[in-house]
Amino acid sequence: IEGRRPLIAGNWKMNYNHLEAIGLLQKLIFSLDEEQTHRVEVAVLPPFVDLRSVQTVIDGDQVPIAFGAQDLSPHDSGAYTGDVSGPMLAKLGCRFVVVGHSERREYHAEGDDVVNTKVVAAYRNGVTPILCVGETLDVREAGGHIEHTTAQLTAALRGVTAEQAETLVVAYEPVWAIGTGKVATPDDAQEVCAALRATLAQLYSTELAGTVRILYGGSVKAANAAEIVGRPDVDGALVGGASLDAEEFAKICIAA
Ligand code: PEP
Repeated sequence: IEGRRPLIAGNWKMNYNHLEAIGLLQKLIFSLDEEQTHRVEVAVLPPFVDLRSVQTVIDGDQVPIAFGAQDLSPHDSGAYTGDVSGPMLAKLGCRFVVVGHSERREYHAEGDDVVNTKVVAAYRNGVTPILCVGETLDVREAGGHIEHTTAQLTAALRGVTAEQAETLVVAYEPVWAIGTGKVATPDDAQEVCAALRATLAQLYSTELAGTVRILYGGSVKAANAAEIVGRPDVDGALVGGASLDAEEFAKICIAA
């Protein structure tokens, strides 16, 4: 971790309406204490329609929990029916936006070029991308996971300056571990996170690579979080399923 503040981010995916979101967030606030939110950065990533409610609760309670969105448009405004733009997210106070999640790559056919334009759009609007990369089971079984994930990272960062990349968050999410209950071993997570950091060092500098937080995501829960996040190049977790339960998510934050 080397001085990098761990980040635990909860990706709620397409779960909970705005009223349910308020309930979950209030339970989470109740379950976390000040010392934990000081040591670890905690973020929630609700569906778009919940963001305004989440912002109101966080502002009203003055709690140090960050929030963000799960996607954004590559465009800042215009005739893009159904899309949500970077300026809209920035105006709401979103600190983060997930880009390149494997579910977007798979169900919305988002390739590396689209992911790159979204990363650029996030930076253009002052919202920090949580850039997801990860290999499928086929790629891992063929031994191509390092090559695949580092290529995804390189492609996503085209045109991103060093000044921008300093704030980047990367999430290594092996597709075979997402929502499957099959968690990568701490060694698997460390191997890929270290390779991603080495790629950042090549693209920018060793110094910059040393400041970027690289998370692991894929079936993280309270019982396995400490061991994974304890590895030197794993700086936190992107949590899906387990973030839908406030107590479980708080336990992950405490374990990190
Ligand atoms: C995710 O979707 O980002 C994720 C890691 O999901 P899960 O924790 O449910 O595997």
